[in-house]
Amino acid sequence: MTAALVRAAEDLATDMARLDLRGRIRLVEDRIPGRLVFTTSLGIEDQALTHALALNKGRTEIVTLDTGRLFPETYDVWVETEAAYGIRIRAYAPERQAEEAFVAAEGINGFRHSITARQQCCGFRKVEPLGRALDGAAAWFTGLRAGQSANRADTPLAEADEGRGLIKVNPLADWTRADVDRFVRDNFIPYNALHDRGFPSIGCAPCTRAVKIGEDERAGRWWWEQESKKECGLHLHRPEGDVVPGQEAAAFEESASAATSREDRRELV
Ligand code: SF4
Repeated sequence: MTAALVRAAEDLATDMARLDLRGRIRLVEDRIPGRLVFTTSLGIEDQALTHALALNKGRTEIVTLDTGRLFPETYDVWVETEAAYGIRIRAYAPERQAEEAFVAAEGINGFRHSITARQQCCGFRKVEPLGRALDGAAAWFTGLRAGQSANRADTPLAEADEGRGLIKVNPLADWTRADVDRFVRDNFIPYNALHDRGFPSIGCAPCTRAVKIGEDERAGRWWWEQESKKECGLHLHRPEGDVVPGQEAAAFEESASAATSREDRRELV
């Protein structure tokens, strides 16, 4: 199963490389049976993907993780995108009990207290909802690019996510930021207004700042943490077994530890 998944992902990546964006998506939809999911953060790369998926009118579900801490501008572009393409982007929200327990214990911005607290917040706001969003999926589309950060430099067009038992598809892996900007501009694609205010990468409002000239694209994410610690789980391989609500932080740490040993650590969207 694992070897077959790895081989299928490698073959897919090879064949995708010859195609344009819409062709890459079509190939995945033609080749992989079962549920296909695209998780959009509503950032500019994901807007390019949403545009291509909407024009293709294929069978990939477009979903987002509504952490409850997003910027108002992110909700604005969400509404604008649904109106522009006549689609509904399905939201996955944090489990109420986990959120209430965290806020009661740590405070509303308790993720600043420690890396463990921050990972716990990302655990119940992002990682656990992601698990539900990908439940039963055969392929997971992302807007990851190799050029986004050093941690993403080896991002392939398609890879086996053995922990989740699916193929992770990154159709923009070989695009530069200039490619994305050009595609969005040329196709009049709606995008988050914060991108024009120094935010190349946009996550939760309290954990994202504008970057300075010369800084890495993702320097504005969890800027108070050391570079090597800036992980929170979406693009780490999930540990075997389900994440139990309320135990996401422990699951994350186990996952992060295993990933580190494989030199396979990736950042969150
Ligand atoms: S990015 Fe910040 S607010 Fe959002 S889930 Fe992670 S720690 Fe919590």
